[in-house]
Amino acid sequence: MGSMVIGQTGWGCVHLTSFHLPTAYFIAGLLYLLMPLGVWLLLSKQRSTTVHLWCAGGVIFGTSLVLLGSRTHLPDWATHVGANTCLFLGVALRVVALRHALHKPLRLGWLLVGSVLFALGYEYCHSVLHNEQLRYIWGSGITAALVLRLAWLGFAIGRQDNSPSARWLASVYLALGLVLSLRSVVVVLDGSRAGALNDDVLTMLLVFVGVMSAIVGNIGFMGIFLERLTRQAGQMALVQARNEESARLSHQIAQLDRRRSVGEIAASLAHELSQPLTNIYLITERAHLEAENTGATSVSKYLHDVQRNTQKAVDILNRIRQFIQSKESQFERVSLNRVVKDVMDLLNDWIQKEAVDVSMHLPTPAVFVMGDPVQLSQILMNICRNAVQATQGQAYRHIDIRIWREADRAHLTVADNGMGLTPEVLSQVSTAFFSTKSDGLGVGLSISKSIATHHGGSLTIGNASQGGAEVHLTLPALA
Ligand code: ADP
Repeated sequence: MGSMVIGQTGWGCVHLTSFHLPTAYFIAGLLYLLMPLGVWLLLSKQRSTTVHLWCAGGVIFGTSLVLLGSRTHLPDWATHVGANTCLFLGVALRVVALRHALHKPLRLGWLLVGSVLFALGYEYCHSVLHNEQLRYIWGSGITAALVLRLAWLGFAIGRQDNSPSARWLASVYLALGLVLSLRSVVVVLDGSRAGALNDDVLTMLLVFVGVMSAIVGNIGFMGIFLERLTRQAGQMALVQARNEESARLSHQIAQLDRRRSVGEIAASLAHELSQPLTNIYLITERAHLEAENTGATSVSKYLHDVQRNTQKAVDILNRIRQFIQSKESQFERVSLNRVVKDVMDLLNDWIQKEAVDVSMHLPTPAVFVMGDPVQLSQILMNICRNAVQATQGQAYRHIDIRIWREADRAHLTVADNGMGLTPEVLSQVSTAFFSTKSDGLGVGLSISKSIATHHGGSLTIGNASQGGAEVHLTLPALA
């Protein structure tokens, strides 16, 4: 291409005497040929019908521009009907490609029929009518309509996928379609402007927009696929995260189910054992009486011990049964002191085995609240269990339980000398299924919290000023 010299003024009537149009067409054609090949290679892993059609369309379109640029060297049929039919077919293939991308496929047979009709119409204007103006309008007009359709489909993909790449593709084809249409209108108004190699501003603009559409159109097309890939990867990551979460929940549910089974076994064991234990108690009572009657005082003393321990075992079993049995909440006047003592009785063996020192500060008179004793025991059981576990690893393990009353509120705190809670743990600690323990279910605190709320109170956990964690339960106190 040489330097540009403007010969005449007026829109569409400016001659660019040194702008070598055939070379410009040739270069644009080469670009159109090379870009789709690049796209085809880069999208090797996503090659689908859409990609094949798009790239084939680009190559055929590029061929048509190369043919147009070689008009002075090649036979007339190749650079006229051949080039224009390739132009039509190239754009039409891309229209079918974008319809495919929108899941609206079109039969390729229609494309063949359309191309043949287009070629016949073009050849009729060219060889029979020898009307250059009509031939140009036929060729450019139909191609402009197809390019505008391409732009419309691009915008449709842009809307459907919310894809900026598709919008770029659509915009550049819209510009090409408009310039082609404008050029056709100019030819309608001024027949002397017909001919693809007519060197005026509009033709130059056409070549420029053509080159732009080759570059931006192909990059936009690749962008549509890359955006779809990124979206798919995001969706896959989401599905994977959901699967992992549901696997974790299934594991926890299975664990809960196992614990429920153990609870049921324990309940029936407590029920089954209470009968023989009562019998042992009655038998020892009778033996005790007989020993006393026969004057065997040392035997009588042993029998008394057996009787006392049997009664203790019966009491423990009754408390376990009461704790396990799930029943509707039964609100009654409950002594918080009693709740603490009962739970300590249940946990006593374990606490001793763990070598944890427990100090209890229970006021006299006792603090009473309105509540379900079993549910209140459940809260205390959870927080004491957590406190004992939290002190693991400390040389001296200590738990402090306090009850007091302040105006109309009953307060209960359980403090431990464990490591306390990190800010991350603190922010999630009462969320259901949050646990930092390998065998934890992460439901204890959230259940305890909802029981407290159900009783008109609250339950909070935080770090104590002296170190370790402190759980604070408040409930409306009874007079
Ligand atoms: P789980 O005991 O099954 O983990 P919880 O709901 O009872 O479930 O407790 C949730 C989490 O809160 C625990 O995993 C632990 O990280 C933290 N936590 C509870 N109590 C204490 C405590 N006394 N000291 C330190 N961390 C605690």
